[in-house]
Amino acid sequence: MTRDTPFSATIASPYWLEDAPLRPLGAAALPKSADLVVVGSGYTGLSAAIEAARGGMSVLVLERGPIGAGCSTRNGGQVGPSIKPELGKLTALHGEGLAKRIRDEGYAALANVQDMIAKNGIDCDWQQTGRYLAAHSPKQFEGLERLAEARRRAGEPDLHIVPQSDQLRELGSDRYFGGAVSLNTGAVQPAKLHAGLLRVAESLGVSVHGGSEVTGIQRDGAGFTVAVGSTTLAARQVLIATNGYTGPMSPWMQRRVIPIGSYMLATDPLPPEVAAKLIPNGRMVVDTRKVVIYFRMSPDGRRMIFGGRAALMETDPTRTLPRLYQMMLDVFPQLSGTGVSHAWNGFVAYTFDHLPHIGVQDGLHYAMGYCGSGVSLSLFYGMRAGQKILGRAEGATALDGLQFQTRPLYYGTPWFLTPSIAWYRFADRFLT
Ligand SMILES: Cc1cc2nc3c(=O)[nH]c(=O)nc-3n(C[C@H](O)[C@H](O)[C@H](O)COP(=O)(O)OP(=O)(O)OC[C@H]3O[C@@H](n4cnc5c(N)ncnc54)[C@H](O)[C@@H]3O)c2cc1C
Repeated sequence: MTRDTPFSATIASPYWLEDAPLRPLGAAALPKSADLVVVGSGYTGLSAAIEAARGGMSVLVLERGPIGAGCSTRNGGQVGPSIKPELGKLTALHGEGLAKRIRDEGYAALANVQDMIAKNGIDCDWQQTGRYLAAHSPKQFEGLERLAEARRRAGEPDLHIVPQSDQLRELGSDRYFGGAVSLNTGAVQPAKLHAGLLRVAESLGVSVHGGSEVTGIQRDGAGFTVAVGSTTLAARQVLIATNGYTGPMSPWMQRRVIPIGSYMLATDPLPPEVAAKLIPNGRMVVDTRKVVIYFRMSPDGRRMIFGGRAALMETDPTRTLPRLYQMMLDVFPQLSGTGVSHAWNGFVAYTFDHLPHIGVQDGLHYAMGYCGSGVSLSLFYGMRAGQKILGRAEGATALDGLQFQTRPLYYGTPWFLTPSIAWYRFADRFLT
């Protein structure tokens, strides 16, 4: 395709929606009551809804935007075990036993995605691709060697070290100083995964409403009154599944998650001989920077899908596109001049201890804080939240009882983000 500039025909919308468009907003009336009201229609909300509906509850999912408008149709589709802190760090904080249980839950979450896709026949281009962790400096390559050894000693799945001299086997780039492959990572087309979950939820009788922003939740006897604009409805139980979009409707949670924008682009289809050499083994790729970048090929192997934190301050994805494009060219200079078909962003939820959190506060259930790698974790902790709501013992998780931390002067607007990112960029460049 010919473009005047790489961006002259860019659509500001996730590439994934081309194959799995969001449903237009409907005008169906809301039910007057439900056993469970779920706020947020992403993977967390739908996974919890499926579990609760299977357990016999009437379930209503309320979504502010179109159904699936949040991260769950906008992510990179990289599916790994995803618990961020490594075992050593978790052990120092929580002791060996709990640390191991938390790490194991990451692996259980990965197995759960595969199981869910297979059992429900979800067509979402699942592929067991493995992931390449690319070292952005010689020091980080040494760090990966130590990490591989630590994982081996802990009995966690192997990381296979790839020295720089062999790197072209994994990556058509000489930007990195070697890396490591973890085989137990896969890929999905995220919006197709979401559409599949929505189909399963609705087939179980879950009622899912877009354009229904929850504006308030009040205790009402043993249950709750949920306000959607001027309408109110009764819920026996409520789950807050709003992750990086958590707002003033649930202020306690808003003080505990840090919304951070992540930005993505998809290129035009590439010439087959160029595309085939970018990521020869079709892995998911993440680098070792603190301001991380991540990329992959589209499921058909024809486009580069590239993401990262391209802005110091949150902005429109088309405004950050030139910078994100330059970040891609730093890795793959051979893509210079390639057109960008789509650019988009979404808000992930970081937490102060880099762990997800699940629990109950003031009677409201919540599961959130996947720190940018929530495809497997949101499905898993959503399912566990559903089981907890049903009062089932299998809903117990290794995260139960962990303090969901906030910080003084933090009320949900991360005023510290711009200086932190500027500092991390400097550290990535000069210190690590
Ligand atoms: C650009 C990007 C790339 C990513 N890449 C990856 C990746 O490759 N691998 C990975 O594992 N993870 C990735 N993630 C993270 C992953 O997508 C999320 O962790 C996961 O989708 C979270 O799902 P969720 O259901 O908890 O939240 P979401 O899907 O974000 O859903 C929350 C929903 O709550 C709704 N909401 C908020 N407030 C209200 C209200 N008051 N009333 C009604 N509805 C409300 C929002 O509109 C939103 O739709 C990425 C995220 C982004 C943004």
